[in-house]
Amino acid sequence: MVLAQLGGSISRALQQMSNATIIDEKVLNDCLNEITRALLQADVQFKLVRDMQTNIKKIVNLDDLAAGHNKRKIIQQAIFNELCKILDPGKPSFTPKKGKTSVVMFVGLQGSGKTTTCTKYAYYHQKKGWKPALVCADTFRAGAFDQLKQNATKAKIPFYGSYTESDPVRIAVEGVERFKKENCDLIIVDTRGRHKQEAALFEEMRQVSEATKPDLVIFVMDSSIGQAAYDQAQAFKQSVAVGAVIVTKMDGHAKGGGALSAVAATKSPVIFIGTGEHMDEFEVFDVKPFVSRLLG
Ligand code: GDP
Repeated sequence: MVLAQLGGSISRALQQMSNATIIDEKVLNDCLNEITRALLQADVQFKLVRDMQTNIKKIVNLDDLAAGHNKRKIIQQAIFNELCKILDPGKPSFTPKKGKTSVVMFVGLQGSGKTTTCTKYAYYHQKKGWKPALVCADTFRAGAFDQLKQNATKAKIPFYGSYTESDPVRIAVEGVERFKKENCDLIIVDTRGRHKQEAALFEEMRQVSEATKPDLVIFVMDSSIGQAAYDQAQAFKQSVAVGAVIVTKMDGHAKGGGALSAVAATKSPVIFIGTGEHMDEFEVFDVKPFVSRLLG
């Protein structure tokens, strides 16, 4: 189910409730069940959906609401707040500051859009007057360095990598050192991704993190991975100190639910979303407008 459909299903459920003459337990339950179904179809994790339903029922106690209260408004507001709550882990992520060196490490599975997102993130900041640089610490995937090099060259962003060195930790450290000397204020380290969450991948990620001491680790997740989102995000969080999430491929066939699950699993906010293959198809993520759009 794409985001627009999810929004459509939720607003339909709310509309049906609005059409009812009296809002009683049954009408509320029907509405919540409809919303639950929509969220599950959009791949929001089952437990999150169940908790949300329980919370709303606690907030909206129909017996306690005096006759004069606008029950629909209260219910709608409760749904809005609960969805916002899932997407807002309560504390903002580390935010790099222009002119002050920050190291940002990107992690994620192969194919998640990690390398593309590294360049998008660099390009976004470069347009705002930053001095970003890209380090390719993926020594495993043939072509990873070429891809980063190509993207970086197109965007005129300095890059570092090697065709011969096989130790990703070494490359990462060398790259970070070099760009620190060159006074870059945003040093982005792209790490290796694999198809599966393997112990070796996590160990390598941990070593790169230990050696480069990133100020921020960003977990990149493909929005179309469905119900696997929660477990995948949690596995990454358990290996490195993920501080923020970027959800890619929110265009086209994207499911919205993965974003909610990734936030819940990592307790880190979504900071950007990828909305296409091009460098500038990248948007700052804001919880409230996102949820408003979701609710139609
Ligand atoms: P990596 O293996 O995680 O580094 O993934 P890549 O950066 O190579 O991306 C894998 C594929 O996803 C490429 O074809 C990208 O062009 C594509 N991609 C990345 N981000 C987005 C996005 O936001 N939207 C769409 N439609 N495609 C994307």
